[in-house]
Amino acid sequence: MASGSVGLAELGFVEAAPAWRLRSEQFPSKVGGRPAWLGAAGLPGPAGLACALCGRPLAFLLQLYAPLPGRADAFHRGLFLFCCRTPPCCAGLRVFRNQLPRRNDFYAYEPPSEDPPLETGESVCLQLESGAHLCRVCGCLGPKTCSRCHKAHYCSKEHQTLDWRLGHKQACTQEGETPEEELDSMAKHESREDRIFQKFKTKISSEPEQILRYGRGIAPIWISGENIPQEKDIPDCPCGAKRIFEFQVMPHLLNYLKADRLGRSVDWGVLAVFTCAESCGLGTGYTEEFVWKQDITDTA
Ligand SMILES: [Zn+2]
Ligand SMILES: [Zn+2]
Ligand SMILES: [Zn+2]
Ligand SMILES: [Zn+2]
Repeated sequence: MASGSVGLAELGFVEAAPAWRLRSEQFPSKVGGRPAWLGAAGLPGPAGLACALCGRPLAFLLQLYAPLPGRADAFHRGLFLFCCRTPPCCAGLRVFRNQLPRRNDFYAYEPPSEDPPLETGESVCLQLESGAHLCRVCGCLGPKTCSRCHKAHYCSKEHQTLDWRLGHKQACTQEGETPEEELDSMAKHESREDRIFQKFKTKISSEPEQILRYGRGIAPIWISGENIPQEKDIPDCPCGAKRIFEFQVMPHLLNYLKADRLGRSVDWGVLAVFTCAESCGLGTGYTEEFVWKQDITDTA
């Protein structure tokens, strides 16, 4: 069942379309670390980012910058994929779409000139202008606050506990930790993630097709003949439009997910993401889309 449309697919982050490359410094497509949110309005909250199966917070997996040329309301467009990495579940997945017109509250109308690219370009994290606090661990909306220092914000009890063990215990109890020191410790977290991401990026530049396959409306490639979704298995968007295939994550990505601190065992083959064919602007903020997971079947 080889798909004849592979040539249309944009393979991997590195081989991405010019539109992506154009603004990739400002709008990264990235794997792991924290999400670099696009719009600051209507971020998914802890409930939206909880695993539908086990209820624990999902971990950020990757994001794509995927604007729709010719669509004024989707001049900027991002897709954000999260997965459950809490054993024994490790099965839940959720994906969100956000889009903005060229003229919006968050970004300049004219793209910034391509000034000296930062050595650690991947660490460019969008600052939210809404003043929303983000979880120190995962970068998602963090409505909970450390009750001792009132400075650290978290999405969930789980991430607060994790951060406590990762060192907030010391930072928090040190009388008068200055904001700079806190930023510094965040920067250290970031640079470790950057290193992981950098390694990943170097690797995929030689074999991008093994990681991600992008092509809105093309046919997904499955790794097994089992558990292939029928049309009825892909729910329509709440706006009424059908959902169409947009990109898929290939099993090879698993190899790069072993080293980070948010968990370990993830067990899936192909993840296929389907998005609203109209890329509708239902509501503002982040619209949930649909992920189909095809597991690797054990046929030893
Ligand atoms: Zn779960
Ligand atoms: Zn969190
Ligand atoms: Zn604290
Ligand atoms: Zn829709």
